[in-house]
Amino acid sequence: MTTSLSLLLLLLIARPAVAQKGAADIGERLLADATIRAAIEAARTGEAQVLAEQVRLCEIPAPTFHEERRAVPVKAEFEALGLRNVRIDAIGNVIGERPGRSARPHVMLASHLDTVFPDGTDLTVKREGALLKGPGIGDNCRGLAAMLGVIRTMNAAKVETPGTITFVANVREEGQDNLGGVRHLLEGEFKGGVDRFISMDGSGIGYTYLDVGTQRYRVTFSGPGRHSYYAFGIANPMHAMGRAMANIGDLQVPSHPRTTFSVGRSGGGTSVNSIAFEAWLEVDMRSHDPAALTVLIAAVKKAVAGAVEAENARWDGKGAVKVEWKELGAAPPGAMPPTSPIVQATASVTKALGLRIVEFPSTTDSNVAMSLGIPALTIDSGGDGSGGHSLNETFVTTDSWKGTQRAMLLVIAMTHP
Ligand SMILES: [Zn+2]
Repeated sequence: MTTSLSLLLLLLIARPAVAQKGAADIGERLLADATIRAAIEAARTGEAQVLAEQVRLCEIPAPTFHEERRAVPVKAEFEALGLRNVRIDAIGNVIGERPGRSARPHVMLASHLDTVFPDGTDLTVKREGALLKGPGIGDNCRGLAAMLGVIRTMNAAKVETPGTITFVANVREEGQDNLGGVRHLLEGEFKGGVDRFISMDGSGIGYTYLDVGTQRYRVTFSGPGRHSYYAFGIANPMHAMGRAMANIGDLQVPSHPRTTFSVGRSGGGTSVNSIAFEAWLEVDMRSHDPAALTVLIAAVKKAVAGAVEAENARWDGKGAVKVEWKELGAAPPGAMPPTSPIVQATASVTKALGLRIVEFPSTTDSNVAMSLGIPALTIDSGGDGSGGHSLNETFVTTDSWKGTQRAMLLVIAMTHP
């Protein structure tokens, strides 16, 4: 290695967050390059293969924590597409690198493998004209297939990038693991080593850099419990839970910033003729404003404490109910400033391809990156869809190649110093 090269590498490595220059018009500048135009054209002509892969991957079950079956064909495809150092890490993330002319800027492009559908769900995808129907067809089989399309298209046109891209099909975006798949990458193997992070998630042409923070708890109410007739006169954990739910249901939250709450599940008790010894509820709270989320969490805690107090007071403290909180998941709210290079570059490539600018808040893998100070953003992966997280999910294939094109142009843009 020559001294000047070592010095250059040192300089690049010493600046972990590489600030991008000229992001505001990078879309147009990239499209002026014949190789990139060829890649854009290849994304359009190669879309049939992307759609076929989207269907194929979607029929393989991948519930959160059990993504390994869907990981196998993705890994095989990473290898077939010539990515370097293709591997599956300790928790199941599929990783492959496409080296650029330099190691930095180092861009991570990730699509989540997992779905909200348990094993045993019928995952058959039905085609009706331009419509694909099946659980997970948009979220996130579209992101996965379009990511593979990005790699294939860049290869077809022999696109060389200034920086290096690591492609990841990650685990644990859905479910109760605090976005554990991407967290494992960015806090572990890739700690301090990623300059920009992009997640491809779901269908559409929008993008989000206002990540919604979430906080989820399981709240358990417990007491001695006993016979409903002979022990009558003691506090009832089930009643305390009901009071808590009513209190939560009455909470007022701002609509700007959008702040939401929901008790999604509840349960407990052993029989109708017993005072339950235990009852529980699970509550989900969200906001893209950290302060509003903190206020909401405090209000929910107060609502529960008030409910327990009221139940215990009702029975003069006999068989007092206790409450226990267990965190089920939390993602901090994050946001990139609209003036940040990654947001400007996304707007620029979107406009350069003649697409509309559609911005929306959401909770995605980018939350993790943002919380670690890495410029990050999540893009839709093309087409259109509805019914995400339901058995009736649909994907409209019309012009879906535009999503593949946009993702490719953005990831190339992000590799520029
Ligand atoms: Zn998703």
